[in-house]
Amino acid sequence: MEKATEAVKVLKGARLIDGNGGPVLRKALVVIEGGRIKAIGPEGKVSVPKGAEVIDMKACTLMPGLMDIHLHCSAHNPITYQNYRVAQLEATPPLQMLTTLLHQQIMLEMGFTTLRDNPWPNAYGGHNSTELVALRDAVEAGIFAGPRLVVGGYATMTGSHLDLIVPRGCRREPDATADGPWELRKLARKQLRTGVDFIKTCASGGGGTDKEAPDVRNMTQEELDAVVDEAHALDKHCACHCFTAAAQKMAIKAGADTIDHCVFTDDEAIEMLVSEKKFIVPTLLHRSDRALEVRRKIGTSEFTLKKMKMLQQHTKETFQRYLTAGVRIAMGTDMALDPEMGANAQELEIYVDYGMTPMEAIQTATKNTAEAIWLGKVTGTLEPGKYADIIAIDGDPLRDIRLLQDKEKIKIVMKEGTVFVDRRPGHRKLVIHDEAWGWKRL
Ligand SMILES: [Zn+2]
Repeated sequence: MEKATEAVKVLKGARLIDGNGGPVLRKALVVIEGGRIKAIGPEGKVSVPKGAEVIDMKACTLMPGLMDIHLHCSAHNPITYQNYRVAQLEATPPLQMLTTLLHQQIMLEMGFTTLRDNPWPNAYGGHNSTELVALRDAVEAGIFAGPRLVVGGYATMTGSHLDLIVPRGCRREPDATADGPWELRKLARKQLRTGVDFIKTCASGGGGTDKEAPDVRNMTQEELDAVVDEAHALDKHCACHCFTAAAQKMAIKAGADTIDHCVFTDDEAIEMLVSEKKFIVPTLLHRSDRALEVRRKIGTSEFTLKKMKMLQQHTKETFQRYLTAGVRIAMGTDMALDPEMGANAQELEIYVDYGMTPMEAIQTATKNTAEAIWLGKVTGTLEPGKYADIIAIDGDPLRDIRLLQDKEKIKIVMKEGTVFVDRRPGHRKLVIHDEAWGWKRL
C-alpha cells in the first residue's frame, strides 16, 4: 500500500536484528518513508531527515514483524467457546468471520504483521474463502487494523484429514471436496477465482480428528500433482499437510512449496527436502502439553488426546533431524483451538529448547516465513526498499526468546510504516480492547 503522504519516521533502538542472521546492529536507526524502509544504520552514520517524527525506543530491540504461516484464524478457540464440537455447529460463517477479525487483531498486538491463514471449515464443510478474502482486503484498505493476511483455499479429496475436521453428521457443501485430477483442478480454480492467495492441500491423515490414523494416505500422486500444478499455473503457491515420510515425498514430487507438520520422517524424505530446498512448517505448539490441557478442557475425545500425545513424542526427534540436516524451517503453529490465539511465539521457545539458536528461531518467523510464502522481496527482513514491518521489544530476545510472548514487552508494532500498537508510557495505543483475553465465552 502506498503511503506517500505520510510523514517520514525514524525509529531508534538499542539494537537491531535485521533477520538475515548477521551481527546485531548497535544504536540502530531506521528511516521510514512511504511505508517502506529508506535507510538503516548506526546513529551518526544515518542522519535524521528534517521534520521526521522520531520514535526513540531506548532500551528496545528492533526486529522484523513476526509471521505465523500456519494458523487457523477462523477456528473457535477457548477464548470464544467452551466446547469445540458445539462451536463447530453453533458458529455461523458470519460469526466465524467476526472471530477471525478478533484473532487477527490479537495477533497484531502480539507483534505479528503477516499471517498465512489456513481456513477452518464451517458447519457445511465449506471454507468461507470469499469472506476471508473480504477481510484481507478490508485490512489492506485500512478499514480495520490487522496483520497482512495471506488467505488459503482448500483443494482436497473427500474424506481427507481436512474434510474430517467437520463433524460427520454435517451435510457438506457441494464444493467442500473433490476427487480425481480434473475435479480437483476445477476445485482449485474455483477457490483461486474467489481471490485466495494460495492453495492448501493434504497428503496424509492428521492429529486433531477422531477415529483417524495419521498415516493414512490422502490423495493419489496424480491428484496431488494436479492441485499443485493448478496453483502454480495461476501463480500461487501451495501448502501441503503431511504427517508421514511417504506424504512428504509425494508433496515434494508434486512440487508443493511448504510441507506442513511433518511429525514423522525418514532419510530419503530429508534428503529430498534438502536438495529441493523445501520449507517445512513444524507446528509443534499445537501438540505441546499446554495445548493438550486446553484440548481436554474443550471436550476433545480421549482417542484424539492419546493420538496427540503419541505424536508429540515424535515431533522432537523429527525436528532435530531436520535441524541437523539443514532443512529450511519456517514458523507455523497450527493455532486453532489450542492453546490460545496470541500465544503463537511459544512455538519459537520450543525450537530453542530443541536446539536452535535464538537468532535461527527468529529467522524462522521472519526471513524464512516470508520466503516460504513468496513475500521475501517485500518483507521478512529489515532492508531498504522493503515494507517497514517492524516491532520494538523491550530487552533482548536473543538472550530470552520468551520476551516475544509477553505483550507488555512488545512496545511498538509497525506495519507498512504505520504504528498500530504503542505501549510506551503516555502513548498507549492498541488495536482492540485492552482485556482481549477477558472475552465472554459462548
Ligand atoms: Zn492446520
